[in-house]
Amino acid sequence: MADLQLDNVKKRYGAFDILHGIDLDVEDGEFVVLVGPSGCGKSTLLRMIAGLETVSDGEIRIGGRRANEVPPQKRNISMVFQSYALFPHMTVKDNITFGPRIRREGSQETEEKLKRAASILNLGAYLERRPGQLSGGQRQRVAMGRSIVRNPDLFLFDEPLSNLDAKLRVQMRTEIKALHHKFESTIIYVTHDQIEAMTMADRIVVMNGGRIEQVGTPLELYDRPANLFVAGFLGSPAMSLIEGTLVGTDQGAAIRLPDNTIIPIAATLAPDGGSVILGIRPEHYRLDPAGPIRLVVDVVEPTGSESHIYGHVGPSEVRAVLRERISVSPGETLRLSVEPEKVHLFDADTGMRLSGA
Ligand code: ADP
Ligand code: MG
Repeated sequence: MADLQLDNVKKRYGAFDILHGIDLDVEDGEFVVLVGPSGCGKSTLLRMIAGLETVSDGEIRIGGRRANEVPPQKRNISMVFQSYALFPHMTVKDNITFGPRIRREGSQETEEKLKRAASILNLGAYLERRPGQLSGGQRQRVAMGRSIVRNPDLFLFDEPLSNLDAKLRVQMRTEIKALHHKFESTIIYVTHDQIEAMTMADRIVVMNGGRIEQVGTPLELYDRPANLFVAGFLGSPAMSLIEGTLVGTDQGAAIRLPDNTIIPIAATLAPDGGSVILGIRPEHYRLDPAGPIRLVVDVVEPTGSESHIYGHVGPSEVRAVLRERISVSPGETLRLSVEPEKVHLFDADTGMRLSGA
């Protein structure tokens, strides 16, 4: 096991700057998820950690030692990809033990490693099968088995669940998390799926356009997103982002919407008439006949346990998730309120969270 430091790590392909200076400390035994939209540089960064891409600038340290010039096979890192890259003509057993066998490790030792991996991954009954005779989830477990027998210092995963159907993804999510508990291994896990990030990570690194937007525990990021990007990226349905201006009322600071709706806020901000973006999580709306928010309904989705309401407040799109089963038709107006402490505020120009909010 090892810790990992990235110190102002940059990547350039010719004239293109792909990563603009990544700083990150990963502790020994930590499960860190890199999440961000497609093309933001997640795989590039992971491949640099693995030694499969050169580092244009900055330093990567694994277990305290500079790794920039260390070839991949000497890094004691194991990487699992989206395409499992199993040998189709080999049995599960031979796929898992391929590494130890080409390294000519003792057969007894290899057998023990295989047993351990197979029992952790529930593959005991499938050892003589070939990949073509397995389900997607089982193939994914074989790929993980091949990683485990290496006893790596660092596990790297690049979107390993993207090829699985929704149900299997949820199951594998739990299994990878359980694996992390058993091994107390250091894991860097890449995904574009914010639910995977929220449910699996000790800490999430949100990336966008080759930069880190914010680093923190899932709930830190969910409860206090540092900027509009993180606010909109994490959470499903997404946070509503509503334009308004900061004003003073007899009851304190508030936001005025374009239709003159006044929404009280808890923040201690100067009511200077500045443009702000109000952020409200869907689950924080309350049905309230006297509430200040007038939501014009576009679509209602009953999920059984909740009602998902899609609509708009003035020009801004709003999604509300209500516990109640309500009957409301498209075009009707729903009155809602939100507790002032639950309102997020962002500077409309910079997109940054406003201090005091
Ligand atoms: P992600 O994994 O987050 O989807 P990638 O790390 O694969 O993103 O890619 C980040 C950016 O780097 C993309 O814009 C991609 O086009 C670019 N890129 C990746 N590999 C190369 C390469 N070999 N040459 C030039 N550009 C590349
Ligand atoms: Mg990628």
